[in-house]
Amino acid sequence: MSFADLGLSDKVLAAVAAAGYTEPTPIQANAIPHVLARRDVLGIAQTGTGKTAAFTLPMLTMLENGRARARMPRTLILEPTRELAAQVVENFERYGTNHKLNVALIIGGVSFGDQDAKLMRGTDVLIATPGRLLDHFERGKLLLTGVELLVIDEADRMLDMGFIPDIERIVKMVPFTRQTLFFSATMPPEIERLADMFLSNPQRVEVSRPASAATTIEQRLVATGSEAAAKRETLRRLMRDAKELQNGLVFCNRKRDVALLQKSLASHGFNVAALHGDMDQRARTLALEGFRSGEVPLLVASDVAARGLDIPAVSHVFNFDVPHHAEDYVHRIGRTGRAGRSGHAFTLIGRGDERSLAAIESLIGQPIPWLDGDLAALSGDLGESEESRPRRRGSRSGSAAHSEPRAEAGREPRAEGSRRAKTDETRSATRVRGRRPRSEEAPAPLPVEQPPAERAALPPRRVAERPADDRPRERERERESRRPAPRRDDDGDTPVGLGAHVPAFLMRPVPPRKD
Ligand code: AMP
Repeated sequence: MSFADLGLSDKVLAAVAAAGYTEPTPIQANAIPHVLARRDVLGIAQTGTGKTAAFTLPMLTMLENGRARARMPRTLILEPTRELAAQVVENFERYGTNHKLNVALIIGGVSFGDQDAKLMRGTDVLIATPGRLLDHFERGKLLLTGVELLVIDEADRMLDMGFIPDIERIVKMVPFTRQTLFFSATMPPEIERLADMFLSNPQRVEVSRPASAATTIEQRLVATGSEAAAKRETLRRLMRDAKELQNGLVFCNRKRDVALLQKSLASHGFNVAALHGDMDQRARTLALEGFRSGEVPLLVASDVAARGLDIPAVSHVFNFDVPHHAEDYVHRIGRTGRAGRSGHAFTLIGRGDERSLAAIESLIGQPIPWLDGDLAALSGDLGESEESRPRRRGSRSGSAAHSEPRAEAGREPRAEGSRRAKTDETRSATRVRGRRPRSEEAPAPLPVEQPPAERAALPPRRVAERPADDRPRERERERESRRPAPRRDDDGDTPVGLGAHVPAFLMRPVPPRKD
């Protein structure tokens, strides 16, 4: 099967050849002819399968006929996040080099004025996040009655992020006669219901999940202490010792920890960027570009920030935290071992991670081998509860494991950090049924002196148990620990700037001297 067999126009075929693609991916081969035949399509595929081109290529072909009118976009693509929306724009730029089409992007964090001007000029393709699109609509700047084709991308993420009520509103505004393409990586019952509602006699196209490609990924568990500093040290050791490390993604469960970990790694000499929901658009773009170009070989990210992004295949994935949801593990490790190449995925396991690990092993249907140690070696009293464990001298690290927020409360909300997305979430959350609750993590200010994980090392209950006369000393100790220790990073174990044993290509570049 070649692209020429799919019914795409010559202009599109030329752009595909210029992009260097020799044959369509399964989702492209299966979906494109149906899209061109004006059928509704239900595509079950996730990022990395080539699904973006599966809808952009036939759209380009179809848009060659007809013209856009002011304020009335001809096609509409809904994306859950700004990055995904921007990625779709890039696809149109890449494959639409031979077309003169107006593509508009409507996302939060960009001025309304510029976006309005684009809409006024007449838009062939409008790519938008749901909340911002509704804002434009409510301001009377947009008419959706000319939409001939609607794409709802990453529907399951839309659900996770609480966007479904917004999507339902938007769908009501586009003509009933439109063609609809609906993509989702997974099909939980709520998504099936929506697909039934939005699609008319759809062609179902399904491609296998990357989990089945996991045979090319060497997965390993790595025993670590549970405290943040111990975990960081384990991670640094892993990175320094890793074989065939070309570039790596490091995943944290909380966006607050993404920022802390990036800072810590950088202070240890690693060339590393961060990607999390609280960063502004410019910083995110810079981080992604640096990583994509290979200039920065390491990227610390949260699931929400990284999911769905077109990040190049990486040689290594490091799970600094065990994901709370097993599917996130599959998504994370799917970033490596692509296209038959070998990849490596290391997961740090500390006390308290047993349940999440069991859920992952059950999902992937196999135990993950240990690089070193095992669950029993983490501690001799793993099954013991906090209450039943006798207090030992120097067992601070042990208790810290139990003081870490572990459940949903500590999880990053399933929304990108844009204020818009948060408003969307807050607005929609109460209306979403039958899904796990999404919690809104208050954006924690970055601690300067001491990371919050360490500050929270002692559970409040413990503090309360202490004799009252211990308090002043404790306060003094706390003050002491907050004093900045110049030229040492927040682990306090390695001087900054020496890049101890950091392999040269992972090393932070030294800025040129000004004298
Ligand atoms: P997507 O699943 O749309 O995020 O695409 C994942 C990656 O696959 C992107 O970097 C695309 O440029 C690339 N890609 C899409 N279609 C093809 C193809 N037919 N052959 C090779 N690479 C492709």
